[in-house]
Amino acid sequence: MSGPNWLRATITDAEPLTDRSRSLRLTVPGWTASLPGQHVDVRLTAPDGYQAARSYSLATSGPGEDLELGIDRLPDGEVSPYLVDIAQIGDSLEVRGPLGGWFVWRPDDPRPIQMIAGGSGVVPFIAMIRARAAAPDGTPFRLLYSVGSPATSMYRSYLENPPAGVTVDWIYSRTAPAGTTRPAGRLTKLDLEKCAVPVHDGPLNYICGSTGFAEHVSQLLIDQGHPASMIKIERYGGN
Ligand SMILES: Cc1cc2nc3c(=O)[nH]c(=O)nc-3n(C[C@H](O)[C@H](O)[C@H](O)COP(=O)(O)OP(=O)(O)OC[C@H]3O[C@@H](n4cnc5c(N)ncnc54)[C@H](O)[C@@H]3O)c2cc1C
Repeated sequence: MSGPNWLRATITDAEPLTDRSRSLRLTVPGWTASLPGQHVDVRLTAPDGYQAARSYSLATSGPGEDLELGIDRLPDGEVSPYLVDIAQIGDSLEVRGPLGGWFVWRPDDPRPIQMIAGGSGVVPFIAMIRARAAAPDGTPFRLLYSVGSPATSMYRSYLENPPAGVTVDWIYSRTAPAGTTRPAGRLTKLDLEKCAVPVHDGPLNYICGSTGFAEHVSQLLIDQGHPASMIKIERYGGN
């Protein structure tokens, strides 16, 4: 089965998001449009012809040839350290997409939305929040963002002042900021009870993060009584 073609992309901007992550703006001649939540494959080619490809969510959506990625560096990774530390404005790479027709939010969907992100899993939710902010009648949006510490929170300044109608809650898995009452630790049932749209409001739940995080959170939601049909999951890999 053939998918979309590889397209040549040029890096037009790069901004640090944290010490270990950054956003890359790309311009991609021939790109048409994407829905909030979709991703692309990015392919790098070394001078000797060696190629490596990885998937990255889009932080943007809609028509046009400009895309934004948000990439977190994995210390032993092959592709992410290059994209975070080495690639420069003006460099070119290849992208293929948009990919993924299930993990998307459509602005005409009236259901309340609960997004639950672990680490870099926040990127597709940035696209959804931006799309919701641009939609005429916004449905309630709530984001629960699990990060290691405040310093590893991607898009923090944007999420600290989210668009109207969007609520953002943080939980910290390794180091909680001074003054917070919740001790650092893995997301729990209690966190969902305090910081997530309850079952009786009928939310559509989106979970995105490492595979271990996504499995853990989806089980908590099922245990709370959310129907499986109301849970959409994007697994980034890892444990
Ligand atoms: C649909 C989709 C969308 C994605 N979107 C994003 C995104 O927006 N931003 C982003 O930063 N990443 C995203 N990822 C993850 C990305 O594709 C790469 O897996 C990640 O950048 C690591 O690639 P690498 O080549 O640096 O590491 P690799 O060389 O592939 O792996 C290095 C080590 O890290 C482990 N590992 C691989 N992936 C993960 C992970 N996600 N978490 C923990 N350990 C891992 C591997 O098992 C290996 O031990 C997405 C993945 C998928 C499937």
